Amino acid sequence: MPTLWLDEIGADDLARVGGKAASLGELTGAGLPVPSAFVVTADTYRSFIEATGIDEPLFEAVDVDSDDSQALAEAAERAQELILETDTPPSVREDLLAAYDEMGDEDVAVRSSATAEDLPDASFAGQQDTYLNVSRADLLQRVKECWASLFTQRAIYYRNENDFAHDAVDIAVVVQQMVDAEKSGVMFTSHPSTGGPTAIIEAAWGLGEAVVSGAVSPDNYIVDRETGTIDEVTVADKKVMCVRGEDGETIERSVPEEKRNERVLSDEEIHRLIEVGERIEDHYDSPQDVEWAIYEDEVYLLQSRPITTIDESDADGEAATDVESQPEGASGVADGGSMESQSEPVRLSGIGSAPGRVTGVVRIVDKLDNLDKVEDGDIIVAEMTTPDMVPAMKRANGIITDEGGMTSHAAIVSRELGVPAVVGAEDATQKLRDGETVTLDGDKGTVEKGAKVPETTGEEEDAGPVEAHSPVKPMTGTEVKVNVSIPEAAERAAATGADGVGLLRIEHMILSTDKTPSRYVEDHGERAYVDEIVEGVRSVAEAFYPRPVRVRTLDAPSDEFRQLQGGEDEPSEHNPMLGYRGIRRSLDRPGEFKLELRAFERLYDLGYDNVELMLPLVTDAEDILRAKALMQEVGIDPEKRDWGVMIETPASALSIEDICETGIDFVSFGTNDLTQYTLALDRNNGNVASRFDELHPAVLELMRQVIGTCREYDVATSICGQAASKPRMVDFLVDEGVTSISPNIDAVRDVQHEVKRVEQRLLLESVR
Ligand code: PEP
Ligand code: MG
Repeated sequence: MPTLWLDEIGADDLARVGGKAASLGELTGAGLPVPSAFVVTADTYRSFIEATGIDEPLFEAVDVDSDDSQALAEAAERAQELILETDTPPSVREDLLAAYDEMGDEDVAVRSSATAEDLPDASFAGQQDTYLNVSRADLLQRVKECWASLFTQRAIYYRNENDFAHDAVDIAVVVQQMVDAEKSGVMFTSHPSTGGPTAIIEAAWGLGEAVVSGAVSPDNYIVDRETGTIDEVTVADKKVMCVRGEDGETIERSVPEEKRNERVLSDEEIHRLIEVGERIEDHYDSPQDVEWAIYEDEVYLLQSRPITTIDESDADGEAATDVESQPEGASGVADGGSMESQSEPVRLSGIGSAPGRVTGVVRIVDKLDNLDKVEDGDIIVAEMTTPDMVPAMKRANGIITDEGGMTSHAAIVSRELGVPAVVGAEDATQKLRDGETVTLDGDKGTVEKGAKVPETTGEEEDAGPVEAHSPVKPMTGTEVKVNVSIPEAAERAAATGADGVGLLRIEHMILSTDKTPSRYVEDHGERAYVDEIVEGVRSVAEAFYPRPVRVRTLDAPSDEFRQLQGGEDEPSEHNPMLGYRGIRRSLDRPGEFKLELRAFERLYDLGYDNVELMLPLVTDAEDILRAKALMQEVGIDPEKRDWGVMIETPASALSIEDICETGIDFVSFGTNDLTQYTLALDRNNGNVASRFDELHPAVLELMRQVIGTCREYDVATSICGQAASKPRMVDFLVDEGVTSISPNIDAVRDVQHEVKRVEQRLLLESVR
């Protein structure tokens, strides 16, 4: 059967119709208001490629070395051409057109619904096309375009990299009545954190794409389902809306002035949505995350998924933190303490750099040690962590280091992995014994002897999504992004609901090869070096697609390179922080820098148009113009791509006007460096750490001037230094009109709330 109607489909038909269609079928079967649709099944696609004999040439065409960009581009072109230029068998054609006519001979939406169950959706994000406003004459072509979208460069590359066979992935296509929504949004049928009977609705004007993609801040309605009371109504300033364009594409448009601050949903509409939400929840017997639309006064359901963020212990009314709510059966207490030993004195203290309280067995490691001795659930104790320790850090329950501050390797990586950590504990490697049990508190920065929380092996529960305890994303006008330094943290960072990545540091990717860039190129060749960067960035760009990912070119001081193979050729510098790093090094080594730039070019070719390029540690416009010339040399068109610079030196802040003239799209404050250089305080020097203050009036004054000038030039402003996680810095920046804030992964939700609070205050002040 080439096509199936939604009422012939249920949740069990995933393999035949893909996830999207199976869910719509299930809702239709339950009598819920889903716009009518039929599905061109995965079997139809399969029999199309088999019956026409294009299957073999198709899979042969995509059997290429996907690191060879030329070959990959040709493969994608050939595969898509095969599908698009092969006629659909007459029987399929007739069946499709008959189904179309039966639906009412009106323009339809054509959407792909991939069926590879074991592939995360992200593997196809933005790849499988959706066409709106499709007429009868275009139907067959659009269906084939959906099929062909299985073979974009990005999709082929993804499957090759992840060892998924190309012929194991099929695709179904949903052909659905258009709902030209006047208003639309999402609804959590129950509270997404506690599972309690509180529904949360977000609503905006026009098609739902604007809400789902985060392009607009929607209204927010909170409803107590037990009493039916609408507890909270937050009306947002809705600047944009998505509408149906003439050519069938979804287009973004400004909301007419008078509707921008108008409330989207009436009380009556809210109650109707709640009623439908309750029916869905009853049907599935679990809280749901629903996409809905209202068209000609009718409520329609576009999608429903179970809410996965409910914290079971919260649902039972027991507040518990991530690490303290370990499952039963976690391994017992080892030597050195017991659950009752509450009065043990604190043994060590340092800087709590990644939150959480955990118990585990101490494993003292240094760089030369065999990291295999770190088992699941152990506590790593080291002078400082290095990039080659990351796999062991992932297994660990906690991390303690002698050295380092909030911006050290151990602090950054542990936060991103969600592993509690205490850094700068001075003599932890001397005072702690290998094999003893300790409890560390990554909030307070303390290490106690003995077990204060049940140990776990790490296998029972990983850090999980960061949003688990407060999963409702507050809608803010100022974007809240997230910093990422290790590709392994990409999924976790994306799950925060951040508006993109404000800083992706690539030095961790390079340092983790244990070779300096020049040694790496010497040993493995230029292409391998480019591939190393492409692969690291790609996984983050994929996890966030289409949200923007700001990737910074290399910025590691020479002392970090000196520890690597090939490090003997690096300069030995008296003060590496004031030395050969960031754009200075890159401009001095244009050959190496161009390899990084080629990695960007390759990512753009692969379809990652969400990648943005950011230059670190610039002094003035001249640095930027020289880098821009090199970008152009490798074929990057600065007019076409979003690119910008870090503001980390007082010189760059004071030259901001000239810098804006270079054609940049954004600047981002690196307050770790801006503070170090403004206050003349080495950020790695413990003797002056207490004077290190990103909120110093001198630092803030430079930032204020930069934001003011950038606003005049329409250049976006951001912060990605550690201070982005500080509420007072957030208050200051939102007040000044910063465009985005990019904190660490664990601070995203708090910063979103802080930003919302300040924005609301500003709004209130403006109307008083
Ligand atoms: C900064 O300087 O604030 C910054 C984000 O860059 P890094 O910490 O990598 O120097
Ligand atoms: Mg910096």
